[in-house]
Formats: sequence, C-alpha cells, structure tokens
Amino acid sequence: MPVPFLDLKLQYNALKTELDEAVERIVSSQSFVLGPEVQALEEEIADYLGVPFAVGVASGTDALLLPLRALEPEVGDEVIIPAFTFFATAGAVWNSGFTPVFCDVDPDIFNLTAETVEAVWTSRTRAVIPVHLYGQVAPMAEIRELAKSRGAFVLEDAAQAIGARQRFPAARLGAGASDLASLSLDESTTSEEWLMAGALGDAGALSFFPTKNLGGFGDGGLVTTSDEALAEKVSKLRVHGGKQMYHHEMVGTNSRLDALQAAVLRVKLPHLESWAEKRQRNAALYDELFTGIEGVKTPIVASKNDHVYNQYTLRVHQRDELRGFLGERGIGSGLYYPLGLHLQECFGELGGKPGDLPVTEALTEEVVSLPIFPELTEGQITEVGQAVREFYSR
Ligand SMILES: *Cc1c(COP(=O)(O)O)cnc(C)c1O
Repeated sequence: MPVPFLDLKLQYNALKTELDEAVERIVSSQSFVLGPEVQALEEEIADYLGVPFAVGVASGTDALLLPLRALEPEVGDEVIIPAFTFFATAGAVWNSGFTPVFCDVDPDIFNLTAETVEAVWTSRTRAVIPVHLYGQVAPMAEIRELAKSRGAFVLEDAAQAIGARQRFPAARLGAGASDLASLSLDESTTSEEWLMAGALGDAGALSFFPTKNLGGFGDGGLVTTSDEALAEKVSKLRVHGGKQMYHHEMVGTNSRLDALQAAVLRVKLPHLESWAEKRQRNAALYDELFTGIEGVKTPIVASKNDHVYNQYTLRVHQRDELRGFLGERGIGSGLYYPLGLHLQECFGELGGKPGDLPVTEALTEEVVSLPIFPELTEGQITEVGQAVREFYSR
C-alpha cells in the first residue's frame, strides 16, 4: 500500500461540510479582504497563543518581513538567523533591508542556540530570528537573555510550530518581552508554565501555507506580538503604510489576509490540538519502530519542549539511497533542507563558504523527513518503519 508524504484531502473530507459552509459564507458576502472574519481569526489565535496582539498578513514570509521593516534598518544592520531553515527566513531579512548573518544549529534539536548566535554576534546585530524548525521550539530563555542583554529584537519564526510549547519558570509569565532583561535566569522558583511558540519573543511569525499544521486554502500568515506599537505599525505596513485610506505615514505594501482564508482557518483551529496529538502519536510509533537500527537517529525532543511535528525528521546514513528505496515502495519522504543558506548562490556576496557551519552542512547531507500527517494509520506507519528497517539490514 503506498504511503503518501502528505494527503490534505483526508483532512478536507473530514471537515468538508463546515469548510464548504465557511467558503460559501464568504462568497455570498462578496467581502474578500480583511474585515470581520480576519479580525475574528486574529482574536482567536491571540487568545489561543496567549499574546495580546495578532495581525493577519498575506503569508508567513510577510509575517517575517513586516516586523523587520518596522524596525527600520539602516544599511549594514544585521539579523542573525540559522543557516538550516527554509529560505523565507533569509529572504525576508534580505528584503527588509537587513543583512542576514548565518549561524549554525544544534545537531540534536536542529535549531540555533544562544551559543551559536553569540558566535556570530557583531556590533551591527539588531535582531535574532530563532526558527522553531519542524515544530520544536528553539531554547528561548537563553536566546532572549542574550538578545535582551544586548538590546536586540527577537522575532520567532514559528511558521512550522503553531501549537508547540516550551516550559518557562512561572516568574517570567506576565513579563512583557521588554521587561525580560530585568528578570534573572536563576530559576529560584520551581513552578513552571507552558508558553506557546509565537508568545516567546518580541514578535512571532506564523504561516498558514497548506502544508503547515494549521493550513489554509492558499497562502496566509500572521504576526504575533505583545507590543502594541509594533502591532499598530505592522497593521499599517500591510495596507501600504497608512491607517487612513490614501494617507501614508510609511511606505508599506499590500499584505492583507483574505477573508476566505480566515474563515477556513477558523473552522480548523479548534482541531489543531487533536491533530498535534495524532502527529505525536505517529512520532512515538516511529520512535519505537526505529529503536536499535544502526545508521538511524530519531528526533530528540528537549526536556522543556512539546514538539508538534510539522515534520518527523531522522538523521541517517545513506540518506539519498534510503529515499530512493522508499520511493520504489511508494513511500513518500521529504528533504528539508538540502543546502545551507550560507551556501546559496544568491548570498554569494556575503562570503559564506563550505566548512563555515559544520553542523548545518552535516545535516543537509543526513536529514530525511517521513510521512507524519495526523490521518496516517498505524498500518501505514508500520509499513514505513519496516521499509526503513529492511533498507538498513540489507
Ligand atoms: C513556511 C515557512 C515560512 C514561510 O511561510 P509562507 O507562508 O510559505 O510564506 C517561513 N519560515 C519557515 C521556517 C517556514 O517553514
């Protein structure tokens, strides 16, 4: 039986009545851009994540771009990002006017850390973008501490991580990102609370691209923040930089979220947690199936994290041969990502060269993502598990 890498039709079919009704509601209203539906989604997501402000925009890429534009970069100002991420993280930095500076990542959790960030910090660093890759949150306490102590902005790339959480000392709760510098990292309190991805930095970027854990019927994104002034500025930037029509305080762009996407996402949002649980169940089944296979390293979840598995990603030997073997058996797999961003042709002028970021470069040779979507059956997962085992026992 073939096992697709992702099958969105199963989710659609399960919610077809409600989704079709939502689409029909918008089409009947003929009111397609922003408006009450988008505002309702913004409120529901802000509430779900525990952030004061949420601003819907046209894509996850724009959810990164607009907060960066709001920082009003000067030529030569830098933003530190991991080299091991989707291109959009770097593209948004570049297009905002900042210079991207690439750092390496941790080999177990695939994310940047305070250490890898500090290694590339310069006097021009103004912001850091921790990417919560595959659905696992980067070590935010340490990253925030470092950034705050140096007056830099923290923008979470939570495109793959809506619903992911990280445990924080309770004393930090209620502290706005700007108050964090005054909080000591010494964890004198034992009580801890979960905070959501998107609520852990000065601002966060979500994507509703169809393959993300909360996916629309096309592109969409959202900016989260606890900073009212920033929320206001991003709301202006998404409509050409003015609150009042035809009066422009800044040069913004067109990055509005469609009412159609908001209506679809509002149907799906109440199911997000149960989908994440199914992804976690699938991951646990795989973990068990892969125990003891030499050449296969299963994903590691940091003890403070709740992973939502937008991707289930192994580190393996003979990665490309494995993918070919699976493909012959009708089993889909994904490769995120085959080349570090510091080595992309378009960033040649930044001077990155092979050997600069060894962990990223090793990962680009070793990672493979397996089907993990919520609707997979136990039988399908067993089939994938057996195929992988067979490959390594040849
Ligand atoms: C998907 C993604 C984005 C961009 O989101 P779009 O909605 O596709 O523009 C940014 N960063 C990461 C890590 C992503 O996975």
